Amino acid sequence: MAMRVHPALVDTFGRAHTYLRIALTERCNLRCVYCMPEEGVPQRPREELLTLEEIHELARLFVRLGVRKIRLTGGEPLVRRGVEELVARLRAMPELETLAMTTNGLLLAEKLPALHRAGLDQLNISLDSFDPVKFSLIARRPGLERVLEGIELAIALGYRPRINCVVLRGINDDEVLDFVAFARTRPVEVRFIEYMPFEGNRWTTDRLVPYGELLERIGSVYRLEPLAGGPHDTAKRFRIPGFVGTIGFITSMTEHFCSTCNRLRLTADGHLKVCLFGPQEVSLRDALRAGASEEDLVALIDAAVKRKKAHHAGMEVLPHIPNRPMILIGG
Ligand code: SAM
Ligand code: SF4
Repeated sequence: MAMRVHPALVDTFGRAHTYLRIALTERCNLRCVYCMPEEGVPQRPREELLTLEEIHELARLFVRLGVRKIRLTGGEPLVRRGVEELVARLRAMPELETLAMTTNGLLLAEKLPALHRAGLDQLNISLDSFDPVKFSLIARRPGLERVLEGIELAIALGYRPRINCVVLRGINDDEVLDFVAFARTRPVEVRFIEYMPFEGNRWTTDRLVPYGELLERIGSVYRLEPLAGGPHDTAKRFRIPGFVGTIGFITSMTEHFCSTCNRLRLTADGHLKVCLFGPQEVSLRDALRAGASEEDLVALIDAAVKRKKAHHAGMEVLPHIPNRPMILIGG
C-alpha cells in the first residue's frame, strides 16, 4: 500500500524521508577514538539542548508528515534522564511503525527492562572488540563485560540486536572472524561499518578496511549467501548456512547508498541535518522557541529537505569539509 508522505519530506530527487534519527544528548560514557577528539567536545549549556517535551513535539510533527521510523541515538542515549518516558510517549503514536535505539550498551543491564516495557522495538548495540584491553583502547574507557551483558539481556528479552562494529585496520580488523563467529549461535546481526571521516577523528584511508576486502576475508572461510534487502537498507546483508544470526556491511565509503536514503537527523541541540556528511543545518529549536506555527516549521523542513544533494561528496573530499564530530550528530 502506498504510504502518504507530506511533500515537505520529499526532496528534489524524489526521495521520501520517512526515517528520523534523534540524538538525545551530546554526552557519552565512552570516548571512542573514531567518534570524538581526545580532548572531548565542549559541552553546550543544557538550555541549548532540546527538552524531552520539545523532542516529543517535533517527533509528533514529523510523524504527522509521514515519518514511520524513529531511532534514538546520541552521544549515548541511555545517559539522558527520562529516556524511558520518552520511549513510552513516542511509542504511543500509532502511525510510528518502528522505534529503535543505537546504544553503546553500557547501561542496558540497568535500563533495558524498562525500555522494553515502554515499547522499544529495535536495538543496535555498538561493540568493536572482544578483548578488554583493546576495547578500552578504542573506547578510551573500560566496559566490555557490561556491553556483553547488555547484549545477552537484549537477546533474552526477545530482541534480535544488531551489533555495530567499526572496523579499524591494525586495531580490531584481526577480530573480524571472531565477530562473524559471534553470530553462529546468537540471534544477532553483526554489522561491519566502514570507518568514516568526521571532524576531529583523524580519519585516514590507511585505517579504513573496505567492504570488498572484508567480503573476501570472510568469504574465504564461510559461505556468504546474500539476503534480499528492503528499499532503504543501508546494510548489505548475508546469511551463513548453519548460523542463527546474520552478517551485514555498511559500506558508506566505498559503495554509498545515497540514492535510496530516507533519513533525516535531529541533533540534540535541535538542528535538522538532511545528510550525515553535509554541513547544512537548520535550527528547529530556535523556530520552535520563537513561537513558530506548525506551518512555519513545515516550511523550514521543506526548504532544508529540498536542499539535500544527490549524494555525499566522497571520501577524498569529506575529510576536508567542515562537519560536526560524530558524537554531536548521532550516526
Ligand atoms: N553512543 C551510541 C553508540 O555508540 O552506539 C550511539 C551514538 S554513536 C555516534 C552511533 C554509531 O556510530 C555507533 O555504532 C558508532 O560505532 C558509529 N560511529 C561513530 N563514529 C563513527 C565513524 N567515524 N565511522 C563509522 N561509524 C562511526
Ligand atoms: Fe560514545 Fe557512541 Fe561515540 Fe562511542 S560511538 S564515543 S559510545 S557516542
